[in-house]
Amino acid sequence: MKQKTAEIIADLKAHLEYLREMGIETFPALEPSAKEVPVSSPPPASEDLALEQVRAELGDCRRCKLHKTRRTIVFGEGDKKAKLMLIGEGPGYDEDVQGRPFVGKAGQLLTRILQAIRLDRDQVYIANVIKCRPPMNRNPEPDEIKACWPFLEKQISAIQPKIICALGTFAAQTLLRMDTKITALRGKVFDINGIKVIPTYHPAYLLRNPDRKKEVWEDMKRILELL
Ligand code: URA
Repeated sequence: MKQKTAEIIADLKAHLEYLREMGIETFPALEPSAKEVPVSSPPPASEDLALEQVRAELGDCRRCKLHKTRRTIVFGEGDKKAKLMLIGEGPGYDEDVQGRPFVGKAGQLLTRILQAIRLDRDQVYIANVIKCRPPMNRNPEPDEIKACWPFLEKQISAIQPKIICALGTFAAQTLLRMDTKITALRGKVFDINGIKVIPTYHPAYLLRNPDRKKEVWEDMKRILELL
């Protein structure tokens, strides 16, 4: 019994540490839901494919120029039936080497953000707008996003998440078909074919701008509320 209590306290301490790191010093009550914004031109739904079929169809992809410089295709990973899907921009150096999304510094922060809402990485599905690392980590180009989009769309269709958290400008703009800045998109909840899309700041941006963690915490609370 004593040991169990000690375990619970240690667990709670670790959780409070995550929250403190996100700039949260108090436990605010959940605020009422943000207004939902229906998206007028939703991306077309594609046929119901299993994730394995999508991966097989992607194959040793050479549909855009990124295949020439990538080491590995970073397809995505996590629970195939996850209620929450997180979508980032594209693989960086560590992801390209390991073949897994969000495993570098930004990825470690993402893992801690998820832990702050009591979610492990294997309870969600993590993917990217593009599946191959751009040289020198430059921004994805329109032709690359276009070539990769059908596969992301099919991944979404196979997983059928309840919520998609769009991490950063490229994910939010690609999913919502808008060129609005992320600062204007975050804080809103969008609806695409019944899937709630919540744009938030990219973890790499948070590493450079830690004062923005509070807003991400608000978005995480919203996700928890909707789950
Ligand atoms: N940044 C992303 O957008 N995706 C990753 O997988 C890693 C870093």
